[in-house]
Amino acid sequence: MVEVNELIAASRYIQGSGAIALLGESVAALGRRAYIIGGRTALSMTEKRIRDSLRSSGVKVVAMDRTVKDCTYATIDSLVDAGMRAEPDFVIGVGGGRAVDTAKAVAWKLSVPSVSVGTQCATNADASAESVVYTDDREFLESVVLPRSPAVVIVDTEIIAAAPVKFLVWGMGDALSTKFEAEAFAEAVRRRGGKPPTNTALALADSTYQSLMAYGLEAVEDLTRGAHSDAVDEVIEAVKLTSAIAFENANCALAHAIHNGLTRTGAVKREHGEIVAYGTIIQVAYEGRPKDEVLRIIRWCESVGLPTKLGDVCDHDEEALSGAVEYACTKDPNANSMPERPSPEEMARTINRVERGI
Ligand SMILES: [Zn+2]
Repeated sequence: MVEVNELIAASRYIQGSGAIALLGESVAALGRRAYIIGGRTALSMTEKRIRDSLRSSGVKVVAMDRTVKDCTYATIDSLVDAGMRAEPDFVIGVGGGRAVDTAKAVAWKLSVPSVSVGTQCATNADASAESVVYTDDREFLESVVLPRSPAVVIVDTEIIAAAPVKFLVWGMGDALSTKFEAEAFAEAVRRRGGKPPTNTALALADSTYQSLMAYGLEAVEDLTRGAHSDAVDEVIEAVKLTSAIAFENANCALAHAIHNGLTRTGAVKREHGEIVAYGTIIQVAYEGRPKDEVLRIIRWCESVGLPTKLGDVCDHDEEALSGAVEYACTKDPNANSMPERPSPEEMARTINRVERGI
């Protein structure tokens, strides 16, 4: 087997206030026939600007679907059928994670490039080559790694800053895990004699964390009072670009395993990024990182409004919790990214330690 270092990344990432106006000229090299897929809310805010930009570059909208809610195979298949009739040169996904993931999968099945236009900051899906697919009952089904990354990613910071602040907080919660999961995975691979992620991916994972610590709280405070500041742009880049490249070139680990275990209890009352932030605290505490480092992460989460205690994340009883811990440690594939697979007993002890404030 040939062992190589590889870096996967979107071809062009364009971030800025008013960046959506550059969509047309950015995609013109891909062809003249666009297929737009998005959610109703996202398109109600952006459709006019998208159409104006495409028209000014001579790009025609040959098909459009404004009804994407969930990324399911049923949705993907029906959008592919419509796409086959319309024969687009590329697919533009507009919205949050579910809409852009759906659009990327549809583009892949149509064998054309994908383009992402993100409208909020809860996700880093825009730039990645993965689609998270759900069942019709909205349960996680699988994460599909696509053979091609998005050709163009447009992140208009004015649109993202106008979305509710909670989206940015959720996106930061998910991105918080990137450094720790990437480092755990790199160590696991090294110990098993494999090729760890590129230095680039690890540097970006660290950079994500540094940006969140430096600008996260300021960004939340600024957005809360309606100010679109440089700190907001720093966080948007950390979530949308830096963490996206880092996570897809390293891996998820215990923080996401904890997330997946807890969501299986059916008692979670928080969003993906919030649960992952809590899972990150558990991972760093479990790893035995210095107390100062763990407390810094806990205090930062408290300051930006991310959960730090189990009761904030889910309504749990002892039985459900032990089932969640058992699943996270023994069944969830992300736990394999840890240098050593944690035992449920160790994990339960770590959760108790975090409950008591470390
Ligand atoms: Zn995640």
